[in-house]
This record gives sequence, structure tokens and C-alpha cells, in this order.
Amino acid sequence: MPLDFLTMEKIRMVDLNGQYQRIKPEVDAAMQRVVDQADFVNGNAVGTFAEALARYTGSGHVIPCANGTDALRLALMALDLQPGDEVVTVPFTFVSTVEVIAMLGLKPMLVDVTADTFVMDPDQVETAITPKTRAILPVHLFGQCADMERIMAIARAHNLYVVEDACQALGAEIIFSDGSVHQAGTMGDVGCTSFFPTKNLGCFGDGGAVFTNSEALAATMHSMANHGMSRKYFYDHIGLNSRLDTLQAAVLNVKLPHLNDYVRARQRAARLYDEALADCSGIIAPAKVPYSTHTYHQYTVRVTMVQRDSLRTRLADAGVPTMIYYPCPLHLQKAYQYLGYKQGDFPVSEMLSQQVLSLPMHTELTTEQIQYITKQLKIF
Ligand SMILES: *Cc1c(COP(=O)(O)O)cnc(C)c1O
Repeated sequence: MPLDFLTMEKIRMVDLNGQYQRIKPEVDAAMQRVVDQADFVNGNAVGTFAEALARYTGSGHVIPCANGTDALRLALMALDLQPGDEVVTVPFTFVSTVEVIAMLGLKPMLVDVTADTFVMDPDQVETAITPKTRAILPVHLFGQCADMERIMAIARAHNLYVVEDACQALGAEIIFSDGSVHQAGTMGDVGCTSFFPTKNLGCFGDGGAVFTNSEALAATMHSMANHGMSRKYFYDHIGLNSRLDTLQAAVLNVKLPHLNDYVRARQRAARLYDEALADCSGIIAPAKVPYSTHTYHQYTVRVTMVQRDSLRTRLADAGVPTMIYYPCPLHLQKAYQYLGYKQGDFPVSEMLSQQVLSLPMHTELTTEQIQYITKQLKIF
């Protein structure tokens, strides 16, 4: 081990405990209140959190639910699509995006991402649209928004719904060409987010929410998250049991006021990485698009001149954890072979899955740690 490593706080891919320690008294008190009131399901803290998140995002309605996957599922269920209807999305994403489409008997129609941004290539969307297409599902991958202005324009031209997968991008902002500013998840018909512990705003287990400006969709999704209930023991829809636990809402109520600081801490870490890696040939730092802020849910580089996996091993030996998001695009996964895609269909996603390497990224990274990480990268 190099000497500077020995004097430094251990480097973690994420540091949930470090973040908790800063707000421990408030979080502990909020959780204790829920326990004292035995207010565990659909309790007071859930409504308070939904209102606070609506204010934060500017979304007309926020409906909390059990996790980000269910948020996507509720969105597609509420749009009342028919089996066989097509939803355009990307293969370079977390599995949930495609999983929920398939699970509902809908057909994922995949389009590639762009190599520099990792998000949906808007130039390819129209080629995937058929008479059966009903929706576009862009993913704001790694914390930066897809090109929503163009995607919304395509959706309007073809009369399609837009569902945003904003699970990794809560807090990101887009500026449209008319100067209007929009939060990730608030531009499409429905936006979906996750409060999985490692997400930008994480709770202490699973959690999620949907955003919409449509009163009708809000009512439908609220009902569907509660078994499709209209009033107690009367059911208007086939629904789910998908609620945000009151305990999780209590944690999120304490953490939401810190979200902007969390995002700024990630952006600061990213800036230090960017500066240190600017002169490192063979490592491509993540590109920033001009129209969106980047919340750096992940700081993902592309390794182009050396073997990514040997670099990864070498870094691990030097005490630097890294992750590969994602090692295999969804069109090549066993579960999705039935869609009929093959190797070569999405060359950018396939290339990225061979090149990407996500470096440690969390709110507690120190300058010293980032200098150490980038030094180790450069040595290799
Ligand atoms: C995390 C994530 C999800 C799913 O969220 P869960 O809360 O884990 O169900 C969906 N899409 C993307 C892009 C994600 O990163």
C-alpha cells in the first residue's frame, strides 16, 4: 500500500454512514416519532414528504410508492396501455426500465444511447416509432437528463406519452431553449424516481415516487398504489400494494432539505475528478451536456486505451473500489432474448458496457481521497 493511503480515511464507493452521522439526531428523532405513534403505513410523514417534494420539484402532484421500479410500473399502468403496445426506451440502463415494460405485456422498442452522454440518442427515436408505439421512456442516466426538449417535441408530433426514468437524477435541472427551467422527472406525463439508499436522495431501505402535473393521472396512480382503491374496500382499478413506509418518509423529510447540498458535494467531487483527469489520455471523463445540470449519481469514465478490467483490479489492489454500470446491455441479457435483438444491434451500448468504469462518488469524498484515486489511475 502507498504511504498516503495509510493516513487517509478508507475509500468507499458510497458512504451512507458518513452522510447519516451528520444528521443523526434529527433522523433518529423523526424515526422515533413514527414508532411512538405506531403510524407505520400511509402515516403523517408520507403526506408531508409528498408535499415537500412537490414544492422542491415544482411538480403538480407527487405520489410516493414502494420503490423506483414500482414508480415506473405505476406510470405505465396508469397510462392504460394495451398488451402489445410499444414503448421506446434504451438498452443501456438499470434493468427496471425494460423489466416493467415487459412485465405489463408491453413491447420494449430499444434505441441506442450516445457515446458521450450515455443517454437516449434523440436522432434514433423516430426510426423506432410504429403505429403501435404509445410512449417514450427516456432514462436520465448517471444523474444527467436526456434531451427532453427534443424527446417531448417528437412525442408531441406523434401523439405519444413520455415517462421519465429520473431514478438517478433527482435534483437535476434542464433549461429549455425558451429559457424555462425544469426539474428532472417533471417534464413528461409521468416522472419516476427512487429513494434506494444510494440514490441522490436515499432513504434507509426501498422507496420511490411518481410525479405528474395531471390531476387525473395523479388520482389513478394514487389509487393504483393502494390496490386500486377508491374508498375503503371498494376497488376501481387492478392495483398494487406499493406504499412508501412512514419510517422512510420520516427519514426523507429530514434529508430533503439537504438534497441541494448533497448534489453540490457530488458536483464538487466531479470537478476535482475532471481537473485531475483532463490530461490523462485513455480516460474519457463524463461529458456535460449544455442543456442539463449533472447531479453525478455516478462519475463514470470510459477506459479506451488499456484493459478496463485490469485497471479495475489494479485500483482495487491500491484500495480504490470501482463499479461497472452496466456490464451487459439489456438486449443481450438472457431474460430479454425473446425480444429478438442480437449482438451488434446497439453498438454504442455494447461498446460502453466494455469501457465504462464508475469511480467512488458520494457526498463525503475528500479532496485528498480524490487526489489519491486519480493518482492511482494515472500510474496505471
Ligand atoms: C434505481 C433505478 C431504478 C429502480 O429503482 P428501485 O428503487 O431500486 O426499484 C430504475 N431505473 C434506474 C435508472 C435506476 O437507477
